[in-house]
Amino acid sequence: MKDTSNLGFGTRAIHAGQEPDPTTGAVMTPIYQTSTYAQESPGKHKGYAYARGKNPTRSALEKCLAALEGAKHGLAFSSGMGATDAVVKLLRPGDEVITGNDLYGGTYRMFTKVFANYGIKFHFIDLSNPAEITKHCNKNTKLLWIETPTNPTMQIIDIEACGVIAKKHNLIYCVDNTFASPYLQNPLTLGADIVMHSVTKYLGGHSDVVMGALLTSNDELYDQLAFIHNSCGATPGPMDSFLVLRGLKTLHLRMKAHCENGRTIAHYLKSHPKIEKVYWPGFNDHPNHEIAKKQMRDFGGMISIVLKNASLEDTFAFASSFKVFTLAESLGGVESLINHPATMTHASIPKVEREAAGVVDNLLRLSIGVEDIEDLMNDLKSVLG
Ligand SMILES: *Cc1c(COP(=O)(O)O)cnc(C)c1O
Repeated sequence: MKDTSNLGFGTRAIHAGQEPDPTTGAVMTPIYQTSTYAQESPGKHKGYAYARGKNPTRSALEKCLAALEGAKHGLAFSSGMGATDAVVKLLRPGDEVITGNDLYGGTYRMFTKVFANYGIKFHFIDLSNPAEITKHCNKNTKLLWIETPTNPTMQIIDIEACGVIAKKHNLIYCVDNTFASPYLQNPLTLGADIVMHSVTKYLGGHSDVVMGALLTSNDELYDQLAFIHNSCGATPGPMDSFLVLRGLKTLHLRMKAHCENGRTIAHYLKSHPKIEKVYWPGFNDHPNHEIAKKQMRDFGGMISIVLKNASLEDTFAFASSFKVFTLAESLGGVESLINHPATMTHASIPKVEREAAGVVDNLLRLSIGVEDIEDLMNDLKSVLG
């Protein structure tokens, strides 16, 4: 199906970028497990020369991902971090970046421990007030990088308001849309230049692939990113591309179920006496609920909780007591996971900064899966008592 732009989200998730295979009629895009392609004469080929540059399975996936974000172009990377790395490589020594103070731990580590050594300066600021961005802008500021909902405290950053400021200062504006997925929000329609995904999470959806993606409708940025993609080489293989194409076909069904289970569990936890705090953007009293309602179609299945009067030991015991939830890093798969950010996903952030961002020792993050809600509730009830 060539043009899917006027079709619904589910139809795009199933069909975009995918045609029956021209040689055999195979309905599913084949896994083109090849590193190179025969040429008729030097330089004369069917658009594919060497598989780091291009692979048909990956091309189908890139088109499908672009269609889901309403983007003109898509690039699939071997990991989310590979995708982030490519965006920062648009910059030069001396350039400055403005970003949030509540970032994915790996992004923070890459910015501070890798790119800071290459002469790029990062400002980690409170993006809940987008006017703060202007205060940190100067002639060297080139990139605004945001993440919303934030991880793990589920702050909602106003994508559109940040975009207005980015435009005014001529910044490249990139949104990490991993937590929401394109089913819940589309930053490009709210002023972003680039959307980044850890495809590993909701897009892949089955916890069996590590992958990243960048989506953009800006031709110039696409050309630069595609050049970095091929030059630096963080490209995914055809088997992983196939698995994600397969996962995407149920993205809309999975997201509906994640949101529904998430809503039930968030309300249950909020009313429980052993829980001090529940972070979930769907609550009317969530500080950014109005922004969430404005820019998201629903509130997702990511919930963080703070246990009341719990030591680190108590928190570990709690996190290790589930039967259906699995104690593990990552999120967005069909199975429910529980994670202890302070020692797992966010361990690379210094304790003082971590706690200032709300990542205390008795905080746990839940990725609500799509299992039967009765079983998830029984699991929670048996642990909480
Ligand atoms: C997982 C994650 C990343 C990193 O992606 P990988 O696929 O693990 O490299 C970046 N941002 C967010 C919000 C994530 O959850």
